[in-house]
Amino acid sequence: MSDLRFSCKCGTLSGVLHDVSPKAGSRVVCYCKDCQAGADALNAGYVLNDRAGSDIFQTVPSLVDIQTGKEHLACMRLSPKGLMRWYAGCCDTPLFNTLSSPGLSFVGIATSNLHGNKDALGPVIAVNKGECATPGDPIKSYGFLSAGWQIMKRNLSAKLRRDKATPFFDASGHPVVTPRVLTLEERKAATPD
Ligand SMILES: [Zn+2]
Ligand SMILES: [Zn+2]
Repeated sequence: MSDLRFSCKCGTLSGVLHDVSPKAGSRVVCYCKDCQAGADALNAGYVLNDRAGSDIFQTVPSLVDIQTGKEHLACMRLSPKGLMRWYAGCCDTPLFNTLSSPGLSFVGIATSNLHGNKDALGPVIAVNKGECATPGDPIKSYGFLSAGWQIMKRNLSAKLRRDKATPFFDASGHPVVTPRVLTLEERKAATPD
């Protein structure tokens, strides 16, 4: 297992993702339009791969240790019930995704912000919504169910360990910052056709 550092583009918000291994999480690539819109709304296309996919490491929040610039942690949602898309407000770098409550022990980390040997993350085990990639050779989707199963397994073992640590929610389960919900117009403008 190894630790990988992460930082926003300007370097103000940074920290460590602890105990990284292919067992600790799942590396997935999501081409869905919501993930594209999430990056677009922050003018952060640089976190996407060359076909507009988001390369994400799915793991438990207790491995995320924000060490500097925590006051810049911000959160955005594409709709009132959408995923919580956490970003660094200093330079609008998309960093993490969570659900709206800490009930499910889950975080998705944009691997583009990780430094060091990303082989530690293991291979990509799932590709989601390949049909929403930007034009080019067809991208096959696979592994969606398996990735979902891995999330449930990690959630269960976190519960058994009583591992509730998360940098995203306070002890009463409220997000540490109030999420900004995009207006319908903002969402439309950010979503690719
Ligand atoms: Zn997506
Ligand atoms: Zn920054």
